[in-house]
Amino acid sequence: MCREISTRIDDIQGVYVVGGAVRDLILDRKPDDVDISVVGNAAAFSELLAVRLGANAPTTSQFLTYRIELASGPIDIVTARSESYATPAALPDVAPSSIVDDLKRRDFTVNAMGISLLATNWGNLVDPANGFGDIMRKRIRVLHDASFVDDPTRMYRAVRYAARLGFSLEPHTHELLAQSLGNVERVSGARLRHEFELILAEPTRVEVLRMAEEFGLLGAISPGLRIGTKALEILGRTSPENIEDMLAVVTFGLNAGEADQVAVRFDGPAAWNESITGGPRLASLVSVLDQEKLQRSEVADILSPIPLPAIRAYIAVGPPLPRRNRMIAYMDKIRFEKPEITGDDLIAAGIPESPVIGKLIELVKRAKLDGQVHSREEELKLAKSRLPGFLIAPKQ
Ligand code: ATP
Repeated sequence: MCREISTRIDDIQGVYVVGGAVRDLILDRKPDDVDISVVGNAAAFSELLAVRLGANAPTTSQFLTYRIELASGPIDIVTARSESYATPAALPDVAPSSIVDDLKRRDFTVNAMGISLLATNWGNLVDPANGFGDIMRKRIRVLHDASFVDDPTRMYRAVRYAARLGFSLEPHTHELLAQSLGNVERVSGARLRHEFELILAEPTRVEVLRMAEEFGLLGAISPGLRIGTKALEILGRTSPENIEDMLAVVTFGLNAGEADQVAVRFDGPAAWNESITGGPRLASLVSVLDQEKLQRSEVADILSPIPLPAIRAYIAVGPPLPRRNRMIAYMDKIRFEKPEITGDDLIAAGIPESPVIGKLIELVKRAKLDGQVHSREEELKLAKSRLPGFLIAPKQ
């Protein structure tokens, strides 16, 4: 067993902490996670590290990567590798390689540094593209001119890091970005969605989105996608767990055609589509909510088919017309109100089990919303009064 482990240790030629953790260390920021790059047998290193840390066995993926889950966050371990792109925006072909090749395949110079963890050269910085210099100059720079063509999602990463770190895009990188916008259409909906989720999860999401819009990166997703000033202000205050609410705010103000296009482009799950297209659906019928004489049951009729994120977005971003108070009443109270009686009460009162029960409960619910019944007894009385007499079973 010992011989087996030491043989496998011999297969490990280099171990480096790489990427964001190195960047954050230099910037004196706390890294979110730790990425390790192993020259040689990454599988052996991952297994040995997991044993050393008392963690579960590492999980593995098709891209020669391994993950160790710790309470403090994951450690991702990759086999140092080179990458080549058969076609632009495709997933890369990978082959095991040196640490320098591994750093050169990365997105930006500031993310392309490694620090050795091997005892023989512990602490050595490997920085083939002068990421250290770019950190000092506070700039995001790509490693080569085809970077955004190879992987257009890097353009979204560029503005995300720039906003997060308070950096700007190095001028040539900015030029390359402007020239590469047309490549965004080659990116799959799933990858775009992932980038958008990462943006919305950033504490500096407002600044990221502002930059993305300014650089044409929102329009590159779908021509109608733009974000108003009020929406940006609200986004700064929205909790990042609530992605559907944020999406509804981001897309607030798009017309039905634009929203449909955005939803198709992201190709997301039903909740994404609803949040994106709910806004225009609501906007098309919302003026009715300004009418002076409107029963609460009618408010429920209008708003119940609309996805909740769209209503919340309208309350937050929309104009302060009477409709707003009606939406607030719906969100806070109306949608939760239901009769005291249930279908079982009606069955117990002798009404045969049938679809009629559901209809009667609905009728009682509307009457309750509109203040026409105030107690359980009144609800029961109303339900019975609306039922043709022959449906009520005679008392035993
Ligand atoms: P964060 O603090 O956001 O986690 P990070 O730098 O750790 O920042 P990850 O998305 O975890 O970012 O990626 C880890 C590293 O992998 C990056 O630092 C970068 O070197 C590399 N990387 C990630 N995505 C790409 C990409 N699309 N193209 C090239 N390199 C990438």
